Amino acid sequence: FDAKKRQSGSMVYSAQLDVGSQESLSLLGELRHAVEAGELRLYLQPKVDLARGRILSAEALLRWQHPERGLVPPMHFIPFAEQSGFIRTLTTWVIAAALRAWSQAQAQGLELRISVNLSTRDLLDQDLPAKIMGMLAAQGAGSQALCLEITESAIMDDPQRALHTLEQLSALGFKLSIDDFGTGYSSLAYLKTLPVDELKIDKSFVLAMERDLGDAKIVHSTIELAHNLGLSVVAEGVETAKAWKILAALGCDEGQGYFIAKPMPEAQFLDWLRHWQAPDLSSESADTVLG
Ligand code: C2E
Ligand code: MG
Ligand code: MG
Ligand code: MG
Repeated sequence: FDAKKRQSGSMVYSAQLDVGSQESLSLLGELRHAVEAGELRLYLQPKVDLARGRILSAEALLRWQHPERGLVPPMHFIPFAEQSGFIRTLTTWVIAAALRAWSQAQAQGLELRISVNLSTRDLLDQDLPAKIMGMLAAQGAGSQALCLEITESAIMDDPQRALHTLEQLSALGFKLSIDDFGTGYSSLAYLKTLPVDELKIDKSFVLAMERDLGDAKIVHSTIELAHNLGLSVVAEGVETAKAWKILAALGCDEGQGYFIAKPMPEAQFLDWLRHWQAPDLSSESADTVLG
């Protein structure tokens, strides 16, 4: 985050801002303003059931529609929001927006579960479960409306407290998912103790699996691991028909990626969903580097 760069229009927010520094205070002020001025946008990206081509859920992804800088991607402000603690306000905003989208879909007869990303700070927030329950009640939704995605690294920041929050959320009926699986440092022994329902294979492995044997093996063994632990498994980064075909052949349950759709503004998403038709992949080969 560099004042000069911002003035010239090419904003770069570094993840490491000194809390209390001038830059940090001004970004915090801008984020507060963004919430009040209605500059946050909820984008939704579908997840497809790879065997049948149906859309059962979508991930909520945050964007900041800045009046001068345009659409700011999450990587430019989420790390700072996490560091400063402001993420809790953003998470609340995202959950409220996700539940509004859920209820719009519901009103159109579309059954959908929406995944929301949680950060370490959210997991350490003792009031989070009650807060989410209150928001569900206000929207007339049950806990099956949401899936909560948590990265391995967010869990490993404070494994004991994270486990406590996850157990509460699980008992309340929320589906829980481990995001970016394979990129963190959690041990399998620890993961086994978590009350989670789903693993999301990080897109770095999926993007590389068509040409790299090592990545293909990681994808394959993660699918088996998930199923052996009784979890469903989602592949991120499905960019090609071939990736879909390979993943389906390996038994992967769901896929998410540009081949299906990019994240879309919520209004456009519902329109897209009504018109979705699964592609015909019968001529696509599922031959892999795995042989
Ligand atoms: P994530 O939770 O792992 O989300 C998936 C990211 O992969 C999204 O990036 C999505 O646009 C991107 N993606 C999806 N399909 C493809 C594909 O086929 N190819 C490629 N190359 N990329 C694909 P996005 O929206 O930029 O978000 C980046 C990260 O920012 C998210 O990663 C998540 O960690 C964080 N984030 C986004 N929204 C929120 C939020 O509301 N709260 C929190 N705590 N974090 C968020
Ligand atoms: Mg996610
Ligand atoms: Mg992810
Ligand atoms: Mg990620």
